[in-house]
Amino acid sequence: MIISFVAALAFSFFHAARAAGATTPADSVPYRLRLYHLHTGEHLDVVYRRGDQYVPEGVAALDHFLRDHRTGDVKDYDIREFDLLHDLLAKLGHLDSEIDIVCGYRTPWSNNYLREHSNGVALDSQHMEAKAIDIRIPGVPTAQVRDAALSLRRGGVGYYAQSNFVHVDVGPVRRW
Ligand SMILES: [Zn+2]
Repeated sequence: MIISFVAALAFSFFHAARAAGATTPADSVPYRLRLYHLHTGEHLDVVYRRGDQYVPEGVAALDHFLRDHRTGDVKDYDIREFDLLHDLLAKLGHLDSEIDIVCGYRTPWSNNYLREHSNGVALDSQHMEAKAIDIRIPGVPTAQVRDAALSLRRGGVGYYAQSNFVHVDVGPVRRW
């Protein structure tokens, strides 16, 4: 009688543990990004990854959102750039914040246009490789975003104090 009670108890604990585990198994932890594009006026709230699995629809939504806003051209982003944004928010303790997007992908045409109309635009910009995004995070000082990005050591970090944004890319590690 006692033995069967213990067995029943163990059985129910086993099922309770599985049920609890099923709500947040490590391999399905959602990676979410909330973005606002300053040029298109669009908002995006998307889960692009669960655990180690990237979510194709989420990734496609990000690629489209980050299109060249001058030409409308879409290019597949280097997936590491999305993880960089996510980890940057985590580092800053702002996982729920919406990131302002100043610039995403740039076609060569768009990059040339910018080079002719402003200073400090690289000829071989990582934006043309869909490996770079210019951002600011409302409520977080831009210098703090820069420092957090530098500490991750995932690629290039450019600090534009005057325009109040930070360039983050997954190209070679460097800073300016
Ligand atoms: Zn940039």
